[in-house]
Amino acid sequence: MLVLSPALEAAVRAHAARAYPEECCGLLAGPLPDSFGTPEAAVVPVEAAALDNAWGEGPRGNRYAFDPRALLAAERDLDRRGLAVLGVYHSHPDAPAWPSPFDLERAWPSYAYLIVSVRGRAPGEARVWTLSPDRRSFLEGDLRVAQTVIGETP
Ligand SMILES: [Zn+2]
Repeated sequence: MLVLSPALEAAVRAHAARAYPEECCGLLAGPLPDSFGTPEAAVVPVEAAALDNAWGEGPRGNRYAFDPRALLAAERDLDRRGLAVLGVYHSHPDAPAWPSPFDLERAWPSYAYLIVSVRGRAPGEARVWTLSPDRRSFLEGDLRVAQTVIGETP
């Protein structure tokens, strides 16, 4: 389960709208839950770190990539503040919030993959996905938007 505060959800949606018609991408960060990587884990990010879409091999309307140096810098910054990367978000311009084969190819285990559909700059449905244990598919998780207190599971 991925729990987003209304402010965090709004930040991700705003980034998706801003980046349209390109995909936006960023990290979801927060304290690492004990059960991280298990289906029972409640993943509660406290911040969304927007990164540039550094995909350089053609149009960025259906691809995204992190610049490795920008990713490392963001991870170091989070680490300094006691936060961990819990997931990755990106947008699907004019496409549903279902992961693409490209997304599957590049996904890492345990991370929550939040996808926001954005049509004509208007952010639409959002869904969250994690890799299946055999890494051959995505499993859809619960996405909840709720005000949270760190350390409490809503
Ligand atoms: Zn995608």
